[in-house]
This record gives sequence, C-alpha cells and structure tokens, in this order.
Amino acid sequence: MGVSMKRFIAFSASLLALAAVCSASPSSDMEKKVSALLSKMTVEEKIGQLFQSDGEANGNARPEHFELARKGLLGSTLNVRGVKRVNELQKAALESRLAIPILFAFDVIHGYRTIFPVPLAEAASWDPAVAEEGASVAASEARAAGVRWTFAPMVDIARDPRWGRMVEGSGEDTYLGSVFAAARVRGFQGADYSAPGKVAACAKHFAGYGAAEGGRDYNTTDISEQRLRNVYFPPFKAAVDAGVATFMTAFNDLNGVPCTANRWLFTDILRGEWGFTGFVVSDYTAIEELVKHRIAKDNYQAAALALKAGVDMEMVSKLYSGNIQQLLKDGNVSMKDLNAAVANILRVKFKSGIFDSPYADPAPEGPALLTAANLAAARRSAVKSFVLLKNEGDLLPLSGKVERIAVIGSLANDRTAAMGSWNGDGQAEDVVTILDGIKARAGDKIRVDYAKGSGPDDQEGEDIRAAVKAAKKADIVIAVVGEGPLMSGEAASRSSLSLPGKQSDLLAAVAETEKPVIMLLMSGRPLDLSWTPYRFPAIMEIWFPGTMAGPAVADVLFGDVSPGGKLPVTWVNNVGQVPLYYNAKSTGRPYSQGNKYTSHYFDGPNAPLYPFGHGLSYSTFSLSDLSLSTGAVRQRDSLSVSVRVTNTGAREADEVVQLYIGARSSSVTRPVRELKGFRRVTLKPGQGEDVQFSLGPAELGLVRSDMKFAVEPGEFAVWAATSSVGGLEGAFSVIR
Ligand code: BGC
Repeated sequence: MGVSMKRFIAFSASLLALAAVCSASPSSDMEKKVSALLSKMTVEEKIGQLFQSDGEANGNARPEHFELARKGLLGSTLNVRGVKRVNELQKAALESRLAIPILFAFDVIHGYRTIFPVPLAEAASWDPAVAEEGASVAASEARAAGVRWTFAPMVDIARDPRWGRMVEGSGEDTYLGSVFAAARVRGFQGADYSAPGKVAACAKHFAGYGAAEGGRDYNTTDISEQRLRNVYFPPFKAAVDAGVATFMTAFNDLNGVPCTANRWLFTDILRGEWGFTGFVVSDYTAIEELVKHRIAKDNYQAAALALKAGVDMEMVSKLYSGNIQQLLKDGNVSMKDLNAAVANILRVKFKSGIFDSPYADPAPEGPALLTAANLAAARRSAVKSFVLLKNEGDLLPLSGKVERIAVIGSLANDRTAAMGSWNGDGQAEDVVTILDGIKARAGDKIRVDYAKGSGPDDQEGEDIRAAVKAAKKADIVIAVVGEGPLMSGEAASRSSLSLPGKQSDLLAAVAETEKPVIMLLMSGRPLDLSWTPYRFPAIMEIWFPGTMAGPAVADVLFGDVSPGGKLPVTWVNNVGQVPLYYNAKSTGRPYSQGNKYTSHYFDGPNAPLYPFGHGLSYSTFSLSDLSLSTGAVRQRDSLSVSVRVTNTGAREADEVVQLYIGARSSSVTRPVRELKGFRRVTLKPGQGEDVQFSLGPAELGLVRSDMKFAVEPGEFAVWAATSSVGGLEGAFSVIR
C-alpha cells in the first residue's frame, strides 16, 4: 500500500468518525429518546397520547381530566390555561406510570391578554415585523399563563370575503401570505420553542379551507392540484420551512376526500415532499365529522381513515380512544401506524421542553401580562395596520381648526368589539375605546360629543336622531361603523357584505347634515360601500384594532403618525363580483370596453372599488429609476430590481413599494400580475431610498401541469408599484 493510499484511508477514517459524530446530532438523540419511551408504553397509553380534550371556556380543566391524566391517557388539552390550573393538571399527569407531561394548547391568535389587531389587519401593515412581534408578545404572555402550544398561524388563502375566517389569515395573496406565515412562526416559536416566552405553533387549516364554495364556512372545496400547489400550499410550505411544530387539518372536503382523511395531504405532501417531522392535530371533532361527510360509514372506519391519513392527534372527539384497540386487533390499522403517530407527538413534546420543565413558572402570570411594552407594541401594530382608503381634500389628519367633533356609532364605544374574534384571554375592561382615545388626544381645546346612533347589532334606529343632532353641532363627524366582533371569524359567513343593522340609515341621516364625515370601518373583511364612498370624503379601514384601539386611532386621526397600511385583499364593489382577486388570469377574452363578448358583467364593473395593495398616506410618494441588473436571466440565476421611492410630501410617512411580475407566455396560464416582493419604508419629507428586490427561481417559477416546479424561459414584465394597479414597468426575459 502506497503512502498516498494510507493517507487516503486515514483521511476516510477521520471522515467516518466525523460522520458518526454528526449523526449523533440532537435529532438522532431525539429519536433515541422517542423510541425508548415508546417501547415502554402500553397500547392504551399510546392511544392516550393521541387524545386532546377541551377544557372549559374560562380556562378550567374538567373534573375527568385529572383521572385521565393520572392514568397517562391525556396527551393534550385545549383552553386549560392559567398557572395554577395548568400546574394542578400537570401534577396529575406526572403521577402517571410514565409521567409523560400534557401539552397545553390554546388559540392564541392575535394576542393572549394584550390583544393585537386581528391577523388580517397585521397583514395590512405589509410589514412582517408587525406579525412577528405580535406573535412574540402573544407567546410570552401565553407562556407565562402555562400555555405551550398555540393553534396559529392560520395561513389559509382567502379570496372570498363572504367567508368569515378571512379575518384570521393574511388575505388573498400567496406571496404576502407566505412571508407572514413564516414571520408568525418565528414570532411564536423563536429559534427554539422550548425557550422561555416561546410556544409551539400550528399551521392551519391544511388545506384549501378558504375556498369553501359560496364562502359558506365548512363547505366543500374542489381545487385543482395545480392551483393548490401554486396558490394554496406555499404559505404552509413557508411555515414548514420556518420550523413550525404542528399542523392542523381543515374541516372541508377537498377534491372528494375530506382533509382529515386525506393521506395525500398529510403523508405524501406534508411529510413526504416537505419533510415535516412535527405532528398533525385534527380540527375540533373533525375525525368524528368524517361520518357526516359520508366518507366513513361509522366511527370505527373514521378513526382508521384519519390515522392512516397521518392525523396524529384527535381534538375533542374520542374516536381514536374508542376504536384503535379494535382496529389493531382486526388488522385495520397497524402498530406501525399507531407508533408513528405517538412518536410524532412525543418528538414535539420533547422539543417543547416539557419533559425537562413540565410546570409553568409558579409565579402568578399577572405581571407578565399587559405590560407597558406589550401595550405599546399593540398600539404601534394597530397604527401600522390602518388602511386609508379615501381622503378627499386632505380631510385627514384633523386640522388645527377643528373645535368640536361628533363621534357616532356604537362601535366607537365598544370594548369587546375592538378585540375582534379569537381574542384569547383578552378582557373588555383592558380596552381603550376609540371614543376614549379620541377624547384623550383632543384634550381641553376640542370638544368631543358622542352619540351612539346605531351599531351592527341594533335593529332599531332610535338613537339616530341624537347622532344627527350631535353632527349638526360639530365641525367634523367621525362615524365608526362596521361589523360586530363575531360577524367575522369562524362560522361567520355572510351572503351580503352590507353594513349590518341600521348603520346605513345612520350614515344616510348624518350625510344629510352635510357635515364632513370621516368614516372609520371596523370589520374583518371588505364591506359593500356601494353608496357611501361618494358621500363621505374620508374612509379608513381600522379592522379590529385590539386593546389599544383608542390611542392608535387617535395617533392617526390627529396626524401624529401617517397611515401606511395597504389592502391585503381586493375590496369588491359588491358581493356579486366575489371571488375577485388581483392575481387573476387574462382569459381568452379579457375585458375591453364596449365589446360585449369579453369577460365582464353587463350591470357593473369588473374592477374592484379599491385594489389589492391600495392604501393612501398623509404624504405623497413617487417611484423612479426602475432598473434591472440584467435584461436576460438564466433559469437558475437571479436578477435584481432596484427602484427609488421618494417622499414628495411634507410629512414623514410610510410607503409600501410592491414588486409584481407578469409572464407573457408559459406552458400553463399564469396570473397577469403576481406579487413577488414588497418593502415598507419610512421616509422623511424629501427623502428618497433605493429599494432592492431579488427575483430568482423561487419567484420566477411555477408549478406546471406535470406538478413539477420549474422556471420556464420566456418574456416577463415587471412592475414597481404602490398598489396592484399601475406602477413603473420594465421587462426581462428568462433564458436557458
Ligand atoms: C377551529 C380551529 C381552532 C379550534 C380550537 C376550531 O373550531 O376551526 O381553528 O383552532 O376550533 O379552538
């Protein structure tokens, strides 16, 4: 053997040694721990780990939880929260034979006690740092109260405002939704969700839930695989890439197989293609609902379908507990199926650190909640989420000449409404109302009168007269109208997008006074404004702003901060246009005015009232100097795009620079415009900034009819813009 051969062998041996060290990485240690524990478990204990039981709405455990926990038959709970309650129940679990701790879950969606703006609002900030900070604050408060796992983020693409759950996600766009999905996972989990102040996250609801037919919650969906892959999947994939610990199934039937029984989704795509190693929880009683879906003839079959599909934990219904023993005996599920589910759950439990520190810090959580820093963050986020839809004659911000303001609409004085749906452990008494915020900022020099007028739940309009009286005496009217907090969210679909109750009557009556009216819209979805925009000079969408609603609204009304949010959803003119989304395809007969046989409505416009990406500011901005690093980019390479944005107005303000591309031709049709980059910048008057974007394979490619992702050669247009309409246009081509 020559010297060089010896060296080669020595070198190879050291490589092997290194490989051995590397393979003893935390993950293989983890697998050892998981299988060691699994090998000690009885079948009953294994099935127990798959069960998640709900506590009472107020956070209490149920009496039966203690007995189940002592027997090691309670894998997880939802809603049980608060240091004392969590620790009492955990103690029972630790008395069980194998002392496997319970994973305490809760829907911490946009805040635990300090309530941030609803998720759709945070997306309207077009600033992922807003979502990341919101999730991070929520995680820290929840963790202080013993919660270790949140059922968030919801990353369902929603193109239909009739569907009430649009409020829980990031809107209609895949790219924006993916960026926000990742930001929220980072916010909840940090780099390590066992770390103090962090919780495990859950990407939900996989998949296609937002496409419910007719916008009716829980309804059937039928979505081509290509559309799933191009439109609905990417935010979920982004959550996986960000390290999300868990996934939740969706309630809907997807292409003939309800998601909760859909092996293709959970086993082939999620684990097979994407390499997900966490666990999957069913949605609330969704396994039992497989019988109602008529995909399973009974509970026994439903349990088998879900387990075989890759659904590891069952939320609330008890089909796994009731049927798996028999299914095993009959050979209709295997021990391998059961072990895989248990291992997935144990892995997340180990990673969440609950084996090492199962108890919540016994110090009462109070001081960790509603801290000044958390409230300040909630206020900043709310300010960033407001979208100024219209501002004729620069009515906003309120000028120094205003001496008397009439605030009308019951939503102005509604603490509960300001928190929106899924408001965690938020307490109405913590909320600063819009009315109080305005009063506080107005000080002594401006008189503020309030008249309820009407609200979303009022069927009588008897207070409208008082509102008109107040309006007549005022220099300016601030009308706060919209939806009640539970009019959007789960099971809150609408067949009309009009202002509920008598609020339109209120606005009509106030309009008669001819006083300038600023309309603040509180809602979880675009509403039908078919008549109001033409009467009212200023409209701002404030969504459900959370605990700091009042101060945030006052910051913007009085001009302390300029609004800079942008719509994360297309604002339709009327419900008949639904679904309407900016990244639509051209069709073979794109609309052209005066040509009957083109794609349009003969009784109304195709265009939305306000396009996706729209939002005004108290300042003005210009875009210039669009430049591309190359006019021809190879399929595997990236090009960079630069554009200068300048604040041409007189105030410091934010603008969101948006980058869209449009493929001129490809093997399958693509949308005319696709968002591929955005950046929110803050600029002083006269200040400019060059904003850079990169367009590489991830942005340029698409899933083709062979279901493969590819970058295809061809011509592209590129737009740098401040909404999905117009902008500076450039062009480039992708070459082999
Ligand atoms: C919802 C989920 C939620 C779960 C637990 C279900 O009804 O669809 O989004 O996480 O309840 O509260």
